[in-house]
Amino acid sequence: MKIAFFSTKSYDKTSFGNFVEGSGHEITFFELALSEITAPLAGGFDAVCVFVNDKLDEKTIGIIAEQGVKVIALRCAGFNNVDLEAAKKHELKVVRVPAYSPEAVAEHALALMMTLNRKTHKAFNRIRENNFSIENLTGFNLHGKTVGVIGTGLIGSAFIRIMRGFGCSILASDVRESEELKSLGVTYVPVSELLSKSDVISLHCPLLPDTHHLINAASLDQMKDGVMLINTSRGGLVNTGDAIDALKTGKLGYLGIDVYEQEAGIFFKDSSETILQDDVIARLMTFPNVLITGHQGFLTHEALEQIAKITLQNLSDFERGVELKNKIF
Ligand code: NAD
Repeated sequence: MKIAFFSTKSYDKTSFGNFVEGSGHEITFFELALSEITAPLAGGFDAVCVFVNDKLDEKTIGIIAEQGVKVIALRCAGFNNVDLEAAKKHELKVVRVPAYSPEAVAEHALALMMTLNRKTHKAFNRIRENNFSIENLTGFNLHGKTVGVIGTGLIGSAFIRIMRGFGCSILASDVRESEELKSLGVTYVPVSELLSKSDVISLHCPLLPDTHHLINAASLDQMKDGVMLINTSRGGLVNTGDAIDALKTGKLGYLGIDVYEQEAGIFFKDSSETILQDDVIARLMTFPNVLITGHQGFLTHEALEQIAKITLQNLSDFERGVELKNKIF
């Protein structure tokens, strides 16, 4: 199949380049993100391969369908950026990579937690300036703390296993409870109880209409003073303005995010020579107790390899007309 690959980065070229030979597919890499403006580039291709911030709204989908594209291959798990109704209307199949390396994202959530807690990023900078003072680097023991996990699917479960190893008690909340996690000692509670009892809260549920702004002024109010909030899931789960207010009062003691509500247009590019126009993320960047990474939770060698293999397999299955086990519909 001829595949138009959007939002290409160097690591995509490497990982897909390693597996495309012999797959029967031909990839054309575009650095541009897919949107209604760039959609005409998909002319003459059978498939588009897209990532988290490509914008597959009704207009974009209409244009690519008109150009003859038959399948949208997401090289990620989340699909909140695709108008599924429009895809259905235009008879486009949508496939994704539901699981590639849950541990990659879970371990990144841990990295955010540990950096914020033990302030290793500050120590790194101090020591490079010959400043060996440890003033204001005090952290807390994770051992014995209560960690609340919202969403106990693949990534949430991997994260819980890590936290169990640290000697934490786990409170969980999910629309589906896992018997396996319960047998490991995880206690499922209503979200309000999780919010009020956890020292650290980590979000691992998808962005859906009912999880949009799950973390807002009211839910922040229920949390313990000085709580740590980690979001490696999707930016839209957190009302960023409300989180900023909670940081200013000290209610939120630490915030670690790998995702941001308005990340499209900011993340995944070097804008170091331009003026940042987003005043919300600019404010977040001023807090000493906020750590932001640019959606790199998935970025491990193991995960990239799996993403490339599964995406190419999804497209081969589509081409052969066999059952699409990773289709969204
Ligand atoms: P998953 O489908 O295995 O698990 C999601 C869990 O959330 C499921 O158990 C589901 O029942 C639960 N859930 C659904 N609605 C809920 C609600 N209202 N309240 C609580 N729980 C709810 O998905 P996953 O592979 O664990 O991925 C989780 C999320 O992580 C994805 O949706 C994606 O947004 C994000 N993600 C981020 C990165 C990154 O690089 N930062 C990479 C991959 C995935």
